[in-house]
Amino acid sequence: MSITIPQLSTISLPPLLGASLEELKAWVQEQGQPAYRGKQLHDWIYNQGVRSLADISVFPKKWRSQLAEIPIGRSTIDHRSVAPDGTVKYLLRLTDGQVIETVGIPTYKWKQRRENPNSLDRLTVCVSTQVGCPMACDFCATGKGGYQRNLQRHEIVDQVLTVQEDFQQRVSNIVFMGLGEPLLNTDNVLGAIRCLNQDVGIGQRNITVSTVGIPGRIRQLAQHHLQITLAVSLHAPNQALREKLIPSAHHYQIDDLLAECREYVEITGRRVSFEYILLAGFNDLPEHAEELAKCLRGFQSHVNLIPYNPISEVDYQRPSSDRIQAFEQVLKQHNTAVSIRYSRGLEADAACGQLRASK
Ligand code: SAH
Repeated sequence: MSITIPQLSTISLPPLLGASLEELKAWVQEQGQPAYRGKQLHDWIYNQGVRSLADISVFPKKWRSQLAEIPIGRSTIDHRSVAPDGTVKYLLRLTDGQVIETVGIPTYKWKQRRENPNSLDRLTVCVSTQVGCPMACDFCATGKGGYQRNLQRHEIVDQVLTVQEDFQQRVSNIVFMGLGEPLLNTDNVLGAIRCLNQDVGIGQRNITVSTVGIPGRIRQLAQHHLQITLAVSLHAPNQALREKLIPSAHHYQIDDLLAECREYVEITGRRVSFEYILLAGFNDLPEHAEELAKCLRGFQSHVNLIPYNPISEVDYQRPSSDRIQAFEQVLKQHNTAVSIRYSRGLEADAACGQLRASK
């Protein structure tokens, strides 16, 4: 599956990270070097994780010294905290001093763990797409800290390489569920997906982009015919309730959002995931589940129920497990595909909704 945008001509190099093999070949040729140096550069950036061009030992010494100041575009780890379940939260410092959060989520093979405690089944990275977030959803810590700027493509790719290096394991899955709203930064997100897929080698089907929904953008994303999973943060079964949680919902009717999602399924042939945060007494009643099932009738989709993870600024509560299961049961009775997703990393404030780029 090819990803054609953004085009070479729209990208300015450096920073070099995020560039395709073709872009790197073109760049080295601009520097008066043969094209095969571009292949070497590609290998050193994506497989060896080089942080300074001066360290690429296969390059001629003289050229290396000329390259020393040219940025690759890597961040530095400012802080690292590990939750009891093995989830690692990183605060990464970008070259302009801004700090973002990235989470590495290991899934262990329990059977083999006795022999080899480090045997990983999966390593998922939860990446940020913006510094802060302008959406200001009521239940989410990220929005409480305001919004600074979009991340560039290399800053998104860097998060994955950083986790890969720290775990000394290849990343298998990526979820765009960190700080920010990916569809407000579509070009950089698509550029990063292209790179992660083609240069880092992560299958599109192992990449999930989560959005609260921006008018017209899901339709636009569908035109790229990607094999990624689209996750939509729905959180309510009707317009009135959704508006109470999500300020931007005032400008985007839930029916329009769902219509775009249907188009997405038609165009890409991929089912859509709906995320539904469960807030006790607010959107977790059986009648809410009934209404949700009705909304999604005949829809090729999957509902992920996310029990609320507490943040300090608001006083929502996580429902009891009985209530959570009852909600799931109603959906199942209506043949709605559903699972409950308990977030990882809760104790390190690394779970869904708890990310705010602080320790
Ligand atoms: N802006 C995008 C990407 C963020 S994804 C989006 O909204 O989808 C983060 C996911 O965690 C979203 O589904 C979000 O709604 C959910 N979330 C936010 N705050 C949460 C909280 N306190 N507890 C559980 N999930 C939360």
